[in-house]
Amino acid sequence: MRIVLVGPPGAGKGTQAVRLAEKLSIPHISTGDLFRANISGQTELGKLAKSYMDAGELVPDEVTIAMAKDRMEQPDAEGGFLLDGFPRNVSQAEALDELLTGESITLDAVLDLEVSEDEVVKRIAGRRICRNDSSHVFHVTYSKPKREGVCDVCGGELYQRDDDHEDTVRKRLEVYHSQTEPIIDYYKAQGLVVTIPALGPVDEITRRALEALKREDATQ
Ligand SMILES: [Zn+2]
Repeated sequence: MRIVLVGPPGAGKGTQAVRLAEKLSIPHISTGDLFRANISGQTELGKLAKSYMDAGELVPDEVTIAMAKDRMEQPDAEGGFLLDGFPRNVSQAEALDELLTGESITLDAVLDLEVSEDEVVKRIAGRRICRNDSSHVFHVTYSKPKREGVCDVCGGELYQRDDDHEDTVRKRLEVYHSQTEPIIDYYKAQGLVVTIPALGPVDEITRRALEALKREDATQ
């Protein structure tokens, strides 16, 4: 299957992407990984991307698209792939269509993880991270430490990252609404969008997504 995964920050997209790719035996292609791989591998595209980033500028869509194209042409992506973080705007979606048409392939589904804005804010703004180890993550509602403000694992001090403050989260959501959400309508016009509620336990969301994708596959 060839799938695009979309959803606002805080929808658990990264987690679901890894799980779904594994279940469907297709590579998980995330823009974050693409950038890291190209930059650390010092590819031409990586060097180009880095020059923009070093100058504090946004990496142009063409560079991101070229990286995604390279990756999708690897042998392991022949039978399908799951795109995560790309396309992130309508012009990237159009470029992706063009690219796929050139290869005579089509997308099978665009999986939209739906979660309300208030839920996103609650999820992200409630996160508390340990100062000693950023993998020690707690939540003021969903995963309370035994003692408030203290890490259960190592006793370190828990804090809220700047990125996780409510006003920052709301700003990130605004960017998502204005830039990325329009691609859902773009793909709806192609009959590709499968929306599932991204609420509840992680396993349950994966199960829901797989079922919805199976239904979508059967209707084609
Ligand atoms: Zn800790």
